[in-house]
Amino acid sequence: MPYMYNCPRCGTTSRLYMGRYGAQEHGRRHRRIRHGGDFPTGERIEHVPWRSPSSRAFSWRPTKGDAIAIAVTVFLVVWGVWHQVTT
Ligand SMILES: [Zn+2]
Repeated sequence: MPYMYNCPRCGTTSRLYMGRYGAQEHGRRHRRIRHGGDFPTGERIEHVPWRSPSSRAFSWRPTKGDAIAIAVTVFLVVWGVWHQVTT
């Protein structure tokens, strides 16, 4: 299930991130740009189901961490298939 950053002070909800780290990074950028590095009271990282009404799954774009995770997964699958075929 994806994660999103929520800032109650400005009512901002981030796009969805596959990993908690992406949402935390979004929050870190948001705090620095919008709040001078201060922590808004009540900000949180939410773990949301894919099919929730507030879900914005179609606006998801992979972060650098997501891309690395996907690349490693693809590599392991390809390596596993290759290993099965050649042994
Ligand atoms: Zn904010």
